[in-house]
Amino acid sequence: HATKKTMADHLRKYESLFTLTPQRMRMIVEAFTETLELGLNKTNQIVPMIPTYVFGWPSGKETGDFLALDLGGTNLRVCLVTLQGEGKFEITQTKYRLTEEQKQEDGQKLFDFCAECLKTFVETNIGEGPGQLKPGQSLPLGFTFSYPCSQERIDHGELIRWTKGFGATNTEGRDVAEMFKKSLEKYELPIQLTALINDTTGTLIASHYVNPRTKIAVIFGTGCNAAYMEHVKDIGKIEHLGIDPGAEMAINCEWGAFDSFEHEHLPRTKYDAVVDDTSNKPGEQAFEKLISGRYLGEILRLVICELIDEGVLFLGQNTYKLEKPYCFDTAFLSLMESDPTDELLMIIGIFTHFFALETTLAERQFFRALAMLIGRRAARLSACGIAAIVSKQGYLEEGCSVGADGSLYNKYPGFADRVHEGLQDIFGDKGRYVRHYCPAPSANLVLIFISYDKKQKRR
Ligand code: ADP
Repeated sequence: HATKKTMADHLRKYESLFTLTPQRMRMIVEAFTETLELGLNKTNQIVPMIPTYVFGWPSGKETGDFLALDLGGTNLRVCLVTLQGEGKFEITQTKYRLTEEQKQEDGQKLFDFCAECLKTFVETNIGEGPGQLKPGQSLPLGFTFSYPCSQERIDHGELIRWTKGFGATNTEGRDVAEMFKKSLEKYELPIQLTALINDTTGTLIASHYVNPRTKIAVIFGTGCNAAYMEHVKDIGKIEHLGIDPGAEMAINCEWGAFDSFEHEHLPRTKYDAVVDDTSNKPGEQAFEKLISGRYLGEILRLVICELIDEGVLFLGQNTYKLEKPYCFDTAFLSLMESDPTDELLMIIGIFTHFFALETTLAERQFFRALAMLIGRRAARLSACGIAAIVSKQGYLEEGCSVGADGSLYNKYPGFADRVHEGLQDIFGDKGRYVRHYCPAPSANLVLIFISYDKKQKRR
């Protein structure tokens, strides 16, 4: 049948657009490695390589009750964590969904909302219980704030710029720890903000808890970012602070910004260019826009819309529902790829239920193949970033583990395998010894109190 042939022809075109050869990947790794070095040695670089003031690995002996607040992109999570020592812990947590408006309104209002959720959580889980909190007693709170901040100490952080679609006003360039403390005071919460950290740093430390071979952590969620432990002597730009050069400090790479503005190194298609142009931050987060959960669905949607415009897909049907930007969630790509039926019933369901569109089997096979191309490219590009840290740090000889977290990593079928394949394409057989795994649910939250403990020790 003619339709089928056409879809197969189209697919070939997209295959060549979205496929990354091992050779191309190695070129990206080389440029990436140089970029990481540059960020360590100079201030104001595109990939900022942010010092976190989290010194060295946890001992596993940390104990106590701690509150954790995680503002990550899609959800706001509040947790009460009890560290029992010996690397063991218990978590009680509640999730709150953020609206698009909340991400764009005044920053102080956003932090007020965080404090409000915290208040509800404390009242439900701590406040009422007799003898839980003595008068005058306050709980230490770690704030996982996963946007690039430049820090001078662990309980401080100036927001460099919003990412992941956030745009709250009056926040960029300001100390978000200070702003959040204001909100805590407003709601009269018996809580003390003791640490501001990034989710990647959290995952790094928490993963090391679970597996001491861990050297790197990567987040694949709304955004994409990584952290690793660096020798202070190799962080040229903080030499003047006089920190013991023999010490180690976690670095929050903010690698989502790799290749921003220049667009020299990454293979961008015209769909990626549209995603970028229509984003609230054109030019920025170039690497992240090819990889993370916020964008993959949109890339696929743009390809489909192109084929609608060309009269290839959905002729005679009303496609307005599919023409709305960001209506195609990355979770749909997961569902499409994991559809176990020959008829691709799951894909029928997605298109009829969410977009009121009928599909032919050939079209469904095409959509699934397209999802695979876009998901695979994302995983292989991530492998390039991991490989850059691995080669820069010389981890390949002994092998190492990479702690990974986020919905894309945990829920997208085959994503982890594709990262693994990518590492082997870059490093050959040795790439097999760079293993990655998800440490534990909510593991990133563990860090918060560890850094708190460390801060106490450090006076
Ligand atoms: P955050 O990054 O906000 O902390 P997550 O790690 O849950 O939170 O990532 C949210 C992103 O993951 C969203 O962009 C969403 O589209 C994507 N996502 C959610 N579920 C899935 C899924 N099953 N497969 C792939 N992506 C998913």
